Amino acid sequence: MDYDVIIIGGGPSGLMASIAAGEQGARVLLIDKGDKLGRKLAISGGGRCNVTNRLPVDEIIKHIPGNGRFLYSAFSIFNNEDIIQFFENLGIQLKEEDHGRMFPVTDKAQSVVDALLTRIAELKVTIRVNTAVAKVLYENGRTSGVKLRDGKTLSCRSVIIAAGGSSVPHTGSTGDAYPWAEQAGHTITELYPTEVPITSKEAFIKDKKLQGLSLRDIGLSVLNPKGKTIITHQMDMIFTHFGISGPAVLRCSQYVVKAMKKWKLDEVVMTIDSLPDTKEEALFQKLNQIMKEHPKKTVKNSLKGLLPERYLLFLLEQANIDEETVGAQLSSEKIRLFAKLCKDFRFHVNGTLPLEKAFVTGGGVSIKEVEPKTMASKKMPGLYFCGEVLDIHGYTGGYNITSALVTGRLAGVNAAR
Ligand SMILES: Cc1cc2nc3c(=O)[nH]c(=O)nc-3n(C[C@H](O)[C@H](O)[C@H](O)COP(=O)(O)OP(=O)(O)OC[C@H]3O[C@@H](n4cnc5c(N)ncnc54)[C@H](O)[C@@H]3O)c2cc1C
Repeated sequence: MDYDVIIIGGGPSGLMASIAAGEQGARVLLIDKGDKLGRKLAISGGGRCNVTNRLPVDEIIKHIPGNGRFLYSAFSIFNNEDIIQFFENLGIQLKEEDHGRMFPVTDKAQSVVDALLTRIAELKVTIRVNTAVAKVLYENGRTSGVKLRDGKTLSCRSVIIAAGGSSVPHTGSTGDAYPWAEQAGHTITELYPTEVPITSKEAFIKDKKLQGLSLRDIGLSVLNPKGKTIITHQMDMIFTHFGISGPAVLRCSQYVVKAMKKWKLDEVVMTIDSLPDTKEEALFQKLNQIMKEHPKKTVKNSLKGLLPERYLLFLLEQANIDEETVGAQLSSEKIRLFAKLCKDFRFHVNGTLPLEKAFVTGGGVSIKEVEPKTMASKKMPGLYFCGEVLDIHGYTGGYNITSALVTGRLAGVNAAR
């Protein structure tokens, strides 16, 4: 037997699994096809590495809309606070930012990757980079090793598949692992892009009217074909040359993908509430008051500061209000229409950028066939899964990395036992 445990993939889940298995005293081999480990980790959180999130566990689970509830058992063994403690023990101090996001105080993702690699070296885990696994070997109804792309085989007691999803392939996550899981009898749920910018063919997008404009803290919603809200996220967004992007958009994106699939739609309606903390009627009254108080001022001037200027002018145009109109000339109906647009500007979107451009892959190895306390395959003895290869996906904000580290911990400990 060459090794006790072979771990395929050196992303956050595989690095954590290597440490956990190494700490159990197992002879561990970590294989990655790239020339460096932790490539995606190093670009996460804008290159600062959003290692985890400090919200309470229930909130973390809510922020993992793709099967977060599967992680309840795992969190009872190793959770976000344990991740924070784990990094502090490795000498990486973390700091909390908005929405509970945790970053290294160095603001450098590489410091996180280096700390993990130092621990892996201490534990004498064998590392092979530039080594692609071609398949996982199963013999006599159990896992027996791996076959490399160069044709060599390596034997072991357990294999941990930590090879990631299918997004951002230049980091090595190219979906290689799904067939290995299928060969062991696992179901792969349909793959789709999540946390991904949204595309639109609306004229105002095509003519780049709003390109580059950011809206802060707006309410962005996805509507069903009957016009009912499926989901709303209150965060920032930005208009791009192909559609919309930014935190609120990334969070809404999977609901657009799912709505298009569910109702076989070519387009989905989204709406922007640019003043989510003010009710429409109150806004209407406020606008009326402003027009009364400044009857001779142009609308453009009296509404200055209500919204970012480009968006204000855009909505005035949508309401067919000439920006040079003075307050006294503006009819009550027009004011009402403008208030409505501020609260509920609807537009069509027609999809998202492709899976390769998504921050996270939706779908993957069905969680129904994985033991929630050990990450062991229910289909094949000696096989374990962790990280994004599983059908688990969270919002950006440290939730995916948390899931990768937690499932990696469990897979490592249990594969080594
Ligand atoms: C730009 C960007 C920003 C992100 N920001 C955040 C964020 O702020 N918060 C958050 O929670 N998540 C974020 N994510 C998502 C997060 O980085 C991933 O969910 C996480 O890295 C998944 O970890 P993993 O260990 O499962 O897989 P990966 O990190 O994808 O690692 C998989 C590894 O497996 C290796 N591999 C694949 N196939 C083979 C093979 N055949 N042989 C050998 N090795 C193989 C790959 O080379 C790779 O190193 C971001 C993602 C991107 C792309």
